[in-house]
Amino acid sequence: MSFENKLLDIETLDIRIAKLENSKLEYPQKLAELNETITQKEKARDLAKDNLRKLEKDISSANMDLEAHSSELAKGHERLGEVKNNKEFDAVQKEIRTRKSLVQETKQNIAKLKDKLPALQEELNAKQEELDGVEAQNSPIVEELARKIASIDDDIAASVLEKTALCSQMDENILKAYNSILIGRKRNGKALSRVSQDSKKCSYCGQIVSPNLIKKIFTNTTLVACENCGSLFVLTEITENEKTS
Ligand SMILES: [Zn+2]
Repeated sequence: MSFENKLLDIETLDIRIAKLENSKLEYPQKLAELNETITQKEKARDLAKDNLRKLEKDISSANMDLEAHSSELAKGHERLGEVKNNKEFDAVQKEIRTRKSLVQETKQNIAKLKDKLPALQEELNAKQEELDGVEAQNSPIVEELARKIASIDDDIAASVLEKTALCSQMDENILKAYNSILIGRKRNGKALSRVSQDSKKCSYCGQIVSPNLIKKIFTNTTLVACENCGSLFVLTEITENEKTS
């Protein structure tokens, strides 16, 4: 294998390491965003649930009132048979009228409250469905991200190990030149520029390579750097993708 091919292999590993390092920052952020979406939907569902529970509580409380008024009304009717004079009769009659009207009011109130039930039940179902939908959509991504986050350090260590093995076969001066460029490009891991017979442009910065440099690159005796960006030239086939990027 030529030193250029070894350099390309080393760069492939550096690009992978850079991507993993970037992921260390990006993945937890993505994970937090996905979890936040679920939390928001949970809150909306819980609010709908609270509204329904409150209405059910109000209905139950109104039913208890109705029971109390009905019981007092029944007692009033019983007392009518036991009154001893007109004054007592009038008082009991008044109590009966009051209880009757309270029973009526409470029944109307219960009916009004019960009318609101279907809409709140529907709202709760809709919010639960939204939550289920988001959970079903996000859960596999969340699990995958959590798995990736857990293995990033191991993945980086494995690539570093692989790189160390490749570097041990490289000329020290070439490695030095390569690493000095890489230091400034830790974010993308790219230190090389590909030139080919067809394309005499630096694949990293796009600058046209001077004929003098092209000659040097093609004789393949020494390492040549781009005059514009400093990337190290390697003579290789360039894929369509690399040409445009
Ligand atoms: Zn360049």
